[in-house]
Amino acid sequence: MIAGIDLGTTNCAVAIWKDGKPELIPNALGDLLTPSAVSIDRSGQSWVGRAALDRMATHPEETVTSFKRRMGTQASTKLGKTTVRAEDLSAIMLRSMMDDVEHATGERPTEAVITVPAYFSERQRRATRRAGEIAGLDVKRLINEPTAAALAFGLHDREDREPFLVFDLGGGTFDVSIVEMFDGIIEVRASAGDNRLGGDDFNDALIRLVEPQLAHIKELEAVTPGKRKAMLTLAAEATRKALSSSAEADFAITLGDERHAVSVTTEAFEEEAAGLIKRLRDPVTRALRDSYIDAASLSEIVLVGGATRMPVVRKAITRMFGRFPNSTVHPDHAVALGAAIQAGLLSGGTDLEEIRVTDVAPFTLGIDVSDQDQFGNIQTGIFSPIIERNTPVPTSRAHSYSTMRDNQTTVEIGIYQGEARNVSNNIRLGDLKVKVPAKPAGQVEIQVRFTYDTSGLLEVDVDVPMTGWHKNLVIVDEEDKRSASEIKSSRAALEKLKVHPRDEEVNVVLLTRSQKLYEEFTGPTREAIGQWITQFTAVLEKQDPRMIADAREALTKALDEVEANPPI
Ligand code: ADP
Ligand code: MG
Repeated sequence: MIAGIDLGTTNCAVAIWKDGKPELIPNALGDLLTPSAVSIDRSGQSWVGRAALDRMATHPEETVTSFKRRMGTQASTKLGKTTVRAEDLSAIMLRSMMDDVEHATGERPTEAVITVPAYFSERQRRATRRAGEIAGLDVKRLINEPTAAALAFGLHDREDREPFLVFDLGGGTFDVSIVEMFDGIIEVRASAGDNRLGGDDFNDALIRLVEPQLAHIKELEAVTPGKRKAMLTLAAEATRKALSSSAEADFAITLGDERHAVSVTTEAFEEEAAGLIKRLRDPVTRALRDSYIDAASLSEIVLVGGATRMPVVRKAITRMFGRFPNSTVHPDHAVALGAAIQAGLLSGGTDLEEIRVTDVAPFTLGIDVSDQDQFGNIQTGIFSPIIERNTPVPTSRAHSYSTMRDNQTTVEIGIYQGEARNVSNNIRLGDLKVKVPAKPAGQVEIQVRFTYDTSGLLEVDVDVPMTGWHKNLVIVDEEDKRSASEIKSSRAALEKLKVHPRDEEVNVVLLTRSQKLYEEFTGPTREAIGQWITQFTAVLEKQDPRMIADAREALTKALDEVEANPPI
C-alpha cells in the first residue's frame, strides 16, 4: 500500500487511496492532524504528536518542534541521550503515521508519496527522501504541497479550469502555485515561495508585541530561556488562534498561581505583522510573472494551510487579488488528500487513469562558467542556467561549453541551484571533474545535460564528444552525504526508542497535560493536580479499561475546569 503523507512543519497528516477516493487516517487520539513534535527522555522513552507538544512546556530540552525548517542541514539536536537530525525526527513522524495506517487498515504501508514545499531545495528534498528510508519506507514520489492541494481541489468536480492560484501558508513555509486543469491534465504553470515564512513568524511578532508588557513579571526571569521561549510560543499560538475569531484576545501565561494576561487587539497584531504580510506578495508576483498570467485572469484563489485562517492574511489576499478566496478545500486536509490521490495514480487500478499531473522545477539549475570580457579578461564564477525555474518536469536539457585555456586537461564543473548571476550567491549542489584532451582554447567541446525527475531530483551527464569521455552523476551533495550504513544506523537508533503502546496513548496525553498544568501552578491548585495525577496513575495500574475510562473522563473535566477558570 502507498500512503500519502503531508509531512508538515506544524502538523502531519496521512491519507490512503481507498474505494476510489482518498481517505484520511486518524491517529491514536482520533485526530486527523498529528502535531509535528517529538520528545525523547534520558531513558529513550519517546513521545510523538500531542503528548510531545505538551512536554514542550515541561521538558523543552527534551522536545523539538518545527524541525522541518532544519531539513537538509547538518544541525543536530540532543534529546535526552539521543542525538537526532531533522531527518531522523521526520522519520519518527513518518513511523507514527505508518502505525496509524496499520492500525486503521491492518496493513502497514511500505511505500509512500511524501509532500514537500514547492520551494524545497534539492538538498531539502534529499533529506526528506532519507527520512522515508530511515522510517523504512520506499518513497515512491515527492510531490509539491501546492500541487497536492491542487489535485485535491481539481478532483472534487473534475471540471476544466482556467488557471487558479494555490496559496499555502503553513506553520513555517509559504508556497504559491499557479495551476491549470484541462482534459484531465493538471498542469502546474509556476511555483514560488518563501521557506522561512509561516505561522511561527506570526507567533514571534505577537511575542514582540506583548514582551514589553511582560517585563515586570519577576517570575518570568527565573525560568530558563528554553522554558521561557516554549511558554511564550504556546501562549502566542493560543492568542493568535483566538484572534482568528474575535477582535481581541488575551495573551496569557500562568506562573505560580498567578495568571498574567495582556490584552491584544486585532489592530495591534496586524500592525506588528505588517512586515510579514508584505512578504506574502513577492512569491505571488514571481509566480504570476513566470507563468505569464495576470492576477485578473486567475479563476480562483485556493487557500491551504492553517495560517490562512488568520483574518489578517485573508484580508491581505482579498486586497491583493481584488476578490474573496475560495474555501472549497479543507485547508488542513487538502495536501494529504492530494498525496493520497497521487498514491492512487501511482498504484494504478483506479478510475483516475485519465488524470495526469505535470509540475515545474522550482529553481533554476546550472553550472559555473568563466567568460571573457571585451578587454580579454577572464571573469570566473558566472552562473550559466541549464534548466530555468518553472520549466515543466520531468525535463532534460543540454548545453555545450568549450575550454577556456590552451592545453588545459581538466575542466571543473560546479553545479548550482539558484537565480543569482554570481554562483557564489547560489547553492552549490556538487561538482564534477572533466578530462579533456590538451588542445588550443575553445577547441574542445563539453556537453552538459541536466535531467530533472518528477520528484525534483537532479541527474547530470557530461560528454566530451572528441574523446568519447562520459560521466553520469546523480547529484550527491558533498556536505550532505549520508551513506547507506549511516541510514541503517539511524534506523537502528530509532528502533531502540521506546514508544507507548497505542491503546495507552490517550492516557499518556492526559498525563503529560496534567504534568504541564502541575508545573504552571503553585499552592492548593498545584497540590490538587498532584493528587489527581497520583490517583490516575493508581487507576492505570489496575488495568481495568472501564475504570480507566471513567477516571480519564473525570480528570479531563477537572483539568478543563482549572484551565478555564484559573485562580486569580
Ligand atoms: P504546516 O503545513 O506547516 O504543518 P499547517 O498547515 O498545519 O502547517 O498550519 C499550521 C499553522 O496554522 C500554525 O502556525 C497554526 O498556528 C496556524 N493555525 C491553525 N489554525 C489557526 C487559526 N484558527 N488561526 C490562526 N492560525 C491558525
Ligand atoms: Mg502544510
